[in-house]
Amino acid sequence: MKIGIPQALLYHYYYPFWKTYFDSLEIETIISSPTNKRIMDQGVKYSVPEMCVPIKVYLGHVLELVDKGADYIFVPRFVSIQKGQFFCPKFMGLPDIIRHSFPEMEPIMISPYIESTTDDLATSIKQYQVFEEKFGISRRDNRKALKNAESVWKSFREYSLRGYDISEAAALSMNDGHKTLKQRKSEVKERFETPEVTIGVLGYVYNIYDSVISLDILNRLKEMGVKVRTFEMIDDDVLKEQLSSIPKTLFWTFSDKLFAAGNHFYHDSEIDGIIHVTAFGCGPDSMLGKLLELDSTKHEKPFMTLRIDEHSGENHLQTRVEAFVDMLKRKKRKVKRGALA
Ligand code: SF4
Repeated sequence: MKIGIPQALLYHYYYPFWKTYFDSLEIETIISSPTNKRIMDQGVKYSVPEMCVPIKVYLGHVLELVDKGADYIFVPRFVSIQKGQFFCPKFMGLPDIIRHSFPEMEPIMISPYIESTTDDLATSIKQYQVFEEKFGISRRDNRKALKNAESVWKSFREYSLRGYDISEAAALSMNDGHKTLKQRKSEVKERFETPEVTIGVLGYVYNIYDSVISLDILNRLKEMGVKVRTFEMIDDDVLKEQLSSIPKTLFWTFSDKLFAAGNHFYHDSEIDGIIHVTAFGCGPDSMLGKLLELDSTKHEKPFMTLRIDEHSGENHLQTRVEAFVDMLKRKKRKVKRGALA
C-alpha cells in the first residue's frame, strides 16, 4: 500500500513530520518529483484560471502521483494551527478542489482534518484516527509514530532557526544517510560568513522553496553573494512579539507569520532590504504586501515585490533581482564610506 505525498504546498514545512510518521507506521510513501514543466502544465490545465499558481501546481503533483502508482493520495485539510487564526480558504477547501477537478480520485484521497493549537501537528491524536481505520493501525502504534514524527519535526525547526534553509534543515533533521551531519554542516557553513548584503525574503514556503514557481529566487540570490533570511528562521516567540505590537493582525496563520517576519526584518539591522515573493491572485497577500510596502518608507529599508505566476519570465526576474541587489550593495558602500569620512 503506497501513499502519495504531493511535493507542493505545506510539504515544504511538514515533510519531515509526515515522512517520519508514515515510516514509523511502515507505510510506504511516494513523493512526487520536484515541480517541473510537465507538472506545472498539467496543473494549469485542470484548474480554474482564478486559482493561485501554487494550487494549480498542486493539482499537477497529484496527477503525477497517480501515474506513479500511488494507492492513496495524502491531501490534508488544513484548518487551523493557532487559536483564533485560520488557513487561507484554499487550504481549507483543498480536498474539495481535488474532488472537483478529479471526481474519480474521491475514493483514494486521505484527508485528515488538521485543527491544532500549535504548529506542531502531533498535538491531537484525533486528527490521525483516519489512519487507524484505513490501515488497521493500533492506537498505541499511532501514538508512537506521532511521537517520532514530532521529535524529528522539532529538530527540523531547530535547524531552521539556526539559519539553515528548509531543504538543508529537512536533510539534517532526517539525516538522510547520503551525507553525514558533519559534511552537510560544512557545506553550508560559508553561507553564514560575512556576506556583502543580507535580504529578508518574504514568501510562503511553497512558493519560495519551489524552484520552478519562484524561478529559483533563493539560489539566484545566493549566487549573487547574498545572505538570505526567511520567516521560518525566526523564533516563533519573536514573531508573536512583533504581532502583539500591531493593532490589527491578519486572519490567516502563514500570512501573519510573514507579516510578523516583515516587521522583524524592518527592525533588524542585519537586514539590508526585503523582497516579497507573491503569487498572482493571492487574496491574503494583496493586504500583506501593501501593508509591508507602505511601512518601507517609514523604516527607510528598500522593499521589492515579485509577483509570480505560470507565465513569469526568468529574464525579467533576473534583471529586477540583480538591480535590487546592486542598489543595496551601492547603498551599503556609500554608508560605509560616509562613516569613514
Ligand atoms: S495564501 Fe495565497 S498563495 Fe497561498 S494558497 Fe492562499 S491564495 Fe494561494
